[in-house]
Amino acid sequence: MLIVSHGTGDWFVADVTTWPRPTDNGFVPEILEVEMYAEAARRVIGRRVSRVTHLDSLVVGEPSIVQGLEGKRITDVTRLGKVLTLHTSLLAVDLHFGMSGRIVVDGRSPIDELSYAASDDSRWIRFGLSFGKGFLYISDPRRFARVQPTRHGEGLGPDAMTISKQQFRECVTGRNAPIKAVLLDQSSVAGLGNMLVDEILWRADVDPHRKKLDAATVDLIHAKMRAVLPQLARRGGSHAGRLSVKLRVPGSACPRDGALLSRATVGGRTTFWCPKHQR
Ligand SMILES: [Zn+2]
Repeated sequence: MLIVSHGTGDWFVADVTTWPRPTDNGFVPEILEVEMYAEAARRVIGRRVSRVTHLDSLVVGEPSIVQGLEGKRITDVTRLGKVLTLHTSLLAVDLHFGMSGRIVVDGRSPIDELSYAASDDSRWIRFGLSFGKGFLYISDPRRFARVQPTRHGEGLGPDAMTISKQQFRECVTGRNAPIKAVLLDQSSVAGLGNMLVDEILWRADVDPHRKKLDAATVDLIHAKMRAVLPQLARRGGSHAGRLSVKLRVPGSACPRDGALLSRATVGGRTTFWCPKHQR
């Protein structure tokens, strides 16, 4: 059981034992989902914020500054890794979506459902902008989303969708940590989450525990990553890999060779891999 606050002063007790655990079946926003959010948010470029309608006390940092969006025109929407930034002439604000944050623009979201967002509930709106005509808000039942004045990408590595082979080598080669942890580390490569890293390592035949990888293996991981991201984007998101969300349960078989998939915590996250072909 978990006490859940809706941020409106009312509290209730939810039975979360029936909810999927993000570490197992983490259908949570990763780079592909946030890119979809960015695409949706680009609809509001050129619009002036008539009112900041929601500033959840847990989700929004420095609310007095964020409130300053009011009256300003959105000039651009950018994304680096899993961070989306709304720009105005004088103020830019970073949006982080946490485990269950979804963006809704003019009543539509690019993603119908995340693990924790089974349905829309106005009580889950944590940050909202009204444009007079239309609106943009973040719906987040779990309240792990964060909205704050921009940090200009501070602490983030190059974006996983565009990182070059050379940059990737510099960020990853020789690191003395499990490759799974290195790829999840947003300061080495920005944007990858649990599902995507498992998928990439599965495709690259690399055991997630391996450390200090040689350049050839690092190049292979880079190539698989750059190939899989646009592929899964076309298929609808991070969950749509070969090592799909359906296989992320004990007893599943590797879709390539039928071996029983292994499962353990690597890099702090529940990890699935094939002990037969991932070495
Ligand atoms: Zn296999």
